[in-house]
Amino acid sequence: MITVDVDRDVCIGSGMCVVAAPAAFSQDADAKAVVLALDGEPAGVVAGAVEACPTGALTLRED
Ligand code: SF4
Repeated sequence: MITVDVDRDVCIGSGMCVVAAPAAFSQDADAKAVVLALDGEPAGVVAGAVEACPTGALTLRED
């Protein structure tokens, strides 16, 4: 199972993760990333979205 942590202090609201994996990520009223449903996208797409973040605000964990 994979989980993604969002560091809200590091997120700049670029929306890159949402573009890369729209079923997995969204943005709240402050434009900060929020995780929706990681099983809504293939694991590789989620990983790509994490890598696409320009500030490293997303951390992927696999249990
Ligand atoms: S790509 Fe990174 S900086 Fe941009 S909204 Fe997603 S978590 Fe925030």
